[in-house]
Amino acid sequence: MQELGDWAHWRASGLVWEKTEEGWRRVQGPMDTQPEGLVVVIESTSITQVLDKLDFMGAVKDIRRFRYVCNFLEMLIREKFPQLSGMAQKKVMLLLEAILDQAIESEIDLHLVCSMVRVTQQSLMDGIYRHMGGKRLWSQHFERVHRMQQYLQNFELTERQDDGLTLTDLPDDVLREILLRLPDHTDLLSMSEVDKRLQEVSNDEEIWKELTLFHFGECMNASHILKANKDGWKSSYKILSSQFTPRVEYPEQLCICSHCNAMFWELHGHPCLESKAQSEEAPQEFTLSPKDMVLRFS
Ligand SMILES: [Zn+2]
Repeated sequence: MQELGDWAHWRASGLVWEKTEEGWRRVQGPMDTQPEGLVVVIESTSITQVLDKLDFMGAVKDIRRFRYVCNFLEMLIREKFPQLSGMAQKKVMLLLEAILDQAIESEIDLHLVCSMVRVTQQSLMDGIYRHMGGKRLWSQHFERVHRMQQYLQNFELTERQDDGLTLTDLPDDVLREILLRLPDHTDLLSMSEVDKRLQEVSNDEEIWKELTLFHFGECMNASHILKANKDGWKSSYKILSSQFTPRVEYPEQLCICSHCNAMFWELHGHPCLESKAQSEEAPQEFTLSPKDMVLRFS
């Protein structure tokens, strides 16, 4: 099982953390009760079965799984949508609508959904002459995407009730800690446009250094570090993000077992289908990134 890194505490919304002398530790939270049966053996399993058996529709409503599902689905739509069976296409569109509903209801991650809808439209355009399923189904997808776009365009955020306290009333160090926990650097850039003080705090080089090391630390070499120290970490972040895919820490991911090839949600675990007598080695569980998942269905 992949260890949660030192940084996980500020990436893992939906989990419960406590501070200890050694750092942050994840503890059992109120959302840690798992439904039964969310395990699927991957061999000869279609994507439709995987989406059903691993309850992706339910995962959309789970804050720990939401972003993982979104990133997986966006990648799947971008790279493989026209090649999916008609049944799988319908499932994916239903999931996309559920994600839209969830984002509208919670009023968070709307930019993520806007991006997914844009990607879907592009994929429909690209696949217009080379897709599985009938022409009628393809035009139905276009209609659904159009409805989603209109819904997003007409949606207005609920006006905030003024209770007298705003983000800018917080001291700098608290504000800084909040900014460090934003899930996406684009939120940090947006915040810097709100007012002068937020601009000052969000331009703090230390914040950008921490973000850069978190997202791109594994790809950086000595010359990247030298350049960042010379030109500034904010500018280095922008350059690196155009060259590498940022690392994302998910509160929960799908895993696969090396023994029985079962796929399951990390916190759910799985009853290993291969008995100990059949193998000397202890089963190993590997996390699957959204990209790993997409590659499995080629
Ligand atoms: Zn197993």
